[in-house]
Amino acid sequence: MASLDVPLAVIEPVTKNEEKFRRKLLWLSQLIKLIEDDSIHQYALQCIPIDDLTIKASQTLSTLKDDVCYCFEDCLVLELLQWFKYSFFSWVDAPECHRCGQPTESRGSIEPTQEESVWFAKTVENYYCSVCKTYTRFPRYNHPRKLLDTKKGRCGEWAICFTLICRALDLDARLIVDWTDHLWTETFSPSRQKWIHCDPCENVCDQPLLYEVGWKKKLSYVIAFSKDEAQDVTWRYSCEFAEVLRRRLMYQCRESFVLSWINYCTKRCRSNATAEKLDFLLKRQVSELSEFLTPPKPNKEELGGRTSGSVAWRLARREIDAEDVSVSYTFNLGDFEVQRRYFHIQYSCALDEYIRISAADRCRCKNWNTYVFDIKNIFRKVETDWKTAYLARTEGSPKGMMVWKFDFENSGLAIQKLRLNLLGTTFQDGKVKWTIKSSRGCFEKVFLNSVLRQTFSDFEGAATDLIITAELCEGIGPQAWQHAQLFRQPLDSKEFPFEVEIYFGKL
Ligand SMILES: [Zn+2]
Repeated sequence: MASLDVPLAVIEPVTKNEEKFRRKLLWLSQLIKLIEDDSIHQYALQCIPIDDLTIKASQTLSTLKDDVCYCFEDCLVLELLQWFKYSFFSWVDAPECHRCGQPTESRGSIEPTQEESVWFAKTVENYYCSVCKTYTRFPRYNHPRKLLDTKKGRCGEWAICFTLICRALDLDARLIVDWTDHLWTETFSPSRQKWIHCDPCENVCDQPLLYEVGWKKKLSYVIAFSKDEAQDVTWRYSCEFAEVLRRRLMYQCRESFVLSWINYCTKRCRSNATAEKLDFLLKRQVSELSEFLTPPKPNKEELGGRTSGSVAWRLARREIDAEDVSVSYTFNLGDFEVQRRYFHIQYSCALDEYIRISAADRCRCKNWNTYVFDIKNIFRKVETDWKTAYLARTEGSPKGMMVWKFDFENSGLAIQKLRLNLLGTTFQDGKVKWTIKSSRGCFEKVFLNSVLRQTFSDFEGAATDLIITAELCEGIGPQAWQHAQLFRQPLDSKEFPFEVEIYFGKL
């Protein structure tokens, strides 16, 4: 009993990485105070469509009523993840030019202004627009209150804001920080009596091995932080304990040091807890630690790749091999689209940008490969002399392919009418072949004319999926790769040579 009152001995850092570790923990304990701030919670509650999400969660729960493993809170977390990704927060790789809206290029980092520092921007990324020759600042805010307004960023911003939203709704949640530069959330499931992995960037729940197995991350430390504790949760996210320990040894952070600081933070969090609360937290902690004794086994979903972020961004973080660009993006409907029974996306090769017209915020996304399900041997070519952009297969490859995938099954809607506007351009003997397929809608059509402008309404089954494939092949001589092109357009064109518009009816 008395041991709880004695201050825990903290081991002083001796290596650079130990000092880094200590600083990071102290920074997180500062951040957690904001995630727990009442006035910020009040503001967050105004941003969440609580009634709507509550109804949806109750509906999901009623379909699961025979499965005692799930409770309302579990279902609410699933709805929150979906809403957060598709209707609230946006991913930013490189911001648009603040003046002309054109794509920008990174020019490193600069110091935050005083105003930016107030909102915990530790760094500001600087981007250059070659069109109007100006710079655009992208402050990496960490302050949860600010993120409710900016609603954009990368995994750090996403995880901080999502954890805040869970806490505002009084769900027991904690912020998870992975030392290999990723962040996410865990929520405590009252029905399953365990902490559940939630990644808002991916709209993924309970797939803890996604990073190590799916993204090939080399994990070392994964630390959970909440108002009640700090906890080393690496063991939930790895099935290679020996490998993790070897990496940790190389990182030059003594295990005794790590433990002493985690315990110190936990003790600080719990200093005002009642005896009853303390008892509850200790029991829960013991139960969690016992879960960590056995390495988990991966399931099928965890073998997949990341869905958020452009391929270039993922490549830069070495999560996938350069030659194996498997993107696996699948379009689903957002709430707003379900309500309107309408989906509309466009791509401009000149801007290299997708615009999801039907989304509530008409979100834009850079990079031709962001939203593809599969790509083989394709790249974007900009001919500066001709002021033209297009997609073509890589030089020397006999065939190139792009696949876009749409799955609407969870929306309860089926495709009634599909309008496509897909532009291919051929020279010499080059060929562009389009395949439009809905496996559940008993629909498959192949088009050998390179331009496909057509409306379809002859779906026989419940068309809840759609796959669009473009294949580029043939052509003559060493320039054959150029003889079949997709979405060719002048750089100043305002047209969208890729357009998919879908009208839905009830299933
Ligand atoms: Zn500009």
